[in-house]
Amino acid sequence: MRRLISEQEISERVAELGKTISEDYKDKNLTILGVLTGSIVLLADLIRQIDLQLRVGLVQASSYVGETTTSGDLSINDSLVPDLTGRDVLIIDDIFDTGNTMVGLYDRIRKFNPSSLQSAVLLWKTERTTVEMEPDYFGFKIPNEFVIGYGLDYNDEYRHIPYIGVLEESDLNGS
Ligand code: IMP
Ligand code: MG
Repeated sequence: MRRLISEQEISERVAELGKTISEDYKDKNLTILGVLTGSIVLLADLIRQIDLQLRVGLVQASSYVGETTTSGDLSINDSLVPDLTGRDVLIIDDIFDTGNTMVGLYDRIRKFNPSSLQSAVLLWKTERTTVEMEPDYFGFKIPNEFVIGYGLDYNDEYRHIPYIGVLEESDLNGS
């Protein structure tokens, strides 16, 4: 495994994002909506860098099934989403890849009538993005490589790794 972004770099960038979000949302009713499961580490770190009253909610989205590393069908479970009426909602996810997940989430979350809707991701794989939409906040633009750690998984593993790593052929083969 090759290290792409260190723990230190992530924590500095997350602190910057928290500061920017605190300024941008200072006169709003912020609800941070974390996307399960990939956002959990970013969610926990980012909310502690936001110096405002805020609420936290969760939504589940999955597009990858099993060991495959190409985008599959999107499935969204909104049964955990709190009342968002009159709330300024910021959706938090680990990565903006093709962008299909975020587009699907926007369609679904709009039905909850939030006052506003924006998105923040740690990573943005710009070369892979196929949608018109762009994330409103992002930590790092990264090249088209499969990354793990800091919430990101391969086959539901590696989420606990504290840095962003690139999985190489040898990792995938288990050798
Ligand atoms: P999108 O719908 O193509 O933007 O994909 C977003 C979702 O795909 C993310 O929430 C991740 O779960 C997953 N994903 C995309 N790229 C990677 C990667 O490099 N590593 C791990 N998961 C990824
Ligand atoms: Mg995911």
